[in-house]
Amino acid sequence: MYDENLIRSIVAQVLSEVGPIPLGSAGNGGSSSAGRHGIFYDANAAVSAARAAFEQLRERPISDRRKAIDIIRKISIEQCEELGLMEMEETKIGRPEHKIEKLRTLGERSPGVEFLETKAFSGDHGIALIERAPFGVIGAITPVTHSLPTITGNAVSMIAGGNTVVVNPHPSGKRVAAEGVRRFNEAIHREIGIDNLICVIAEPTLESAEALFKNRDIALICVTGGPAVARAALNSGKRAIVAGPGNPPVVVDETADLDNAAKCIIQGAAYDNNLLCIAEKEVFVVESVFDAMMAAMRRAGAVQLNASQIAALTSKAIVKVGDDKHDAACKDFIGRDASVLAAAAGVSIPATCELLFGETDEHHPFVTVEQMMPFLPFVRARDVDHAIALAKHYEHGFRHTAIIHSRDVRNMTKMAREMDTTLFVKNGPCMASLGLGGEGYISFSIAGPTGEGVTTPYTFTRERRCSLIDDLNIV
Ligand code: NAD
Repeated sequence: MYDENLIRSIVAQVLSEVGPIPLGSAGNGGSSSAGRHGIFYDANAAVSAARAAFEQLRERPISDRRKAIDIIRKISIEQCEELGLMEMEETKIGRPEHKIEKLRTLGERSPGVEFLETKAFSGDHGIALIERAPFGVIGAITPVTHSLPTITGNAVSMIAGGNTVVVNPHPSGKRVAAEGVRRFNEAIHREIGIDNLICVIAEPTLESAEALFKNRDIALICVTGGPAVARAALNSGKRAIVAGPGNPPVVVDETADLDNAAKCIIQGAAYDNNLLCIAEKEVFVVESVFDAMMAAMRRAGAVQLNASQIAALTSKAIVKVGDDKHDAACKDFIGRDASVLAAAAGVSIPATCELLFGETDEHHPFVTVEQMMPFLPFVRARDVDHAIALAKHYEHGFRHTAIIHSRDVRNMTKMAREMDTTLFVKNGPCMASLGLGGEGYISFSIAGPTGEGVTTPYTFTRERRCSLIDDLNIV
């Protein structure tokens, strides 16, 4: 665990070294924006600058895209500690060690230009080449749960595809977003002579998001966030790539390796204090191994709350919102340490404890709500079919992520078919599905509702075909 004072002193030192983020007047877009390093206060000015950067990038070879991406990777890896702690200091949610690790991992493993493939068809009537072309300027909306990490992954994939991007970050993560973008652009500008490949709105609002949605030079929208922004993007009238909310259920059946299941569930659910959209949010365990699974969780280091402690925590961590007074996670508890939740439950826990858990019924708000807190509800199920049915119901049709711990391939297959989720993990923690301990690549924008899945450079390209008739086929 990181010392709070250490974080503050590092952040203060970094901010004193970098100085204030440069201000600029609204409407100052286009080529005159070189030197702004992507920091804008006006959405339309940012789009003009990103458009000018796109016009320059399209004249360059793909090796220049690779150079720009390599710079983003280098900064994300070498400066992950400073920037990760800055994000922690600003957002005050999650865990410092994971803020740092997320940046490093995105720098290392986000897919780049190598992901773009050209297809060719050759035959009696000549050849056809199918290539991947950029859209142009992409408008991106990013969440508070991973402000700079989402921008980093998006920037790598979008620039690999030949695009530029304007980001409207979450207001509570705007400062680290701007600082990261400033560092990326400054170094890219120095290396390849193009500024503003990534632009950011320094004072983001719903109005600046709306201005991006409406700007005619925004060719594509990519939003990462909860239900409201997902709806807004889908109603924008533009093509949208929507990485929306989840409520990932876990099923544990009677054949599972319970100690491995406990270890994996803690690793995934406690990561960054449960802020990941793919993180384990509720667990359905078949009756015959329920008590043994609870014992395995305790052995693995999680602390179990009893019914009255769960009720005390729930009364503070879940609130009623909206006209219909529906349950929602209380902002004061989202992404907070297990010790903060434990204090609310009236329990003191060892400093090493990363996750609280306890038995609830299926209707409990910690089951129904995407809580993003390190308390995990466990629900008894009669058998695996019942567990899968509950998992299906409480995933709420997001088709985002689901997890099973089992050695029975039939149960795995049954659940995978039933859930129909973008990510389905067997016998591992959630993040293994993003290549962290499993195979594959990483992105923090997982587009479920619009179907692109874990986004890559391919996601941010258009297909173009070029045909030569009756010639150049040589066999
Ligand atoms: P949020 O929905 O509160 O905010 C996300 C972004 O959308 C912010 O920049 C916010 O300012 C903006 N926004 C919200 N309403 C808007 C509207 N009507 N118009 C335009 N912009 C709007 O979410 P958050 O708390 O920042 O992040 C957590 C949520 O994001 C969770 O639901 C999580 O599951 C989801 N998420 C999904 C993925 C994924 O890849 N699918 C990744 C990370 C987070």
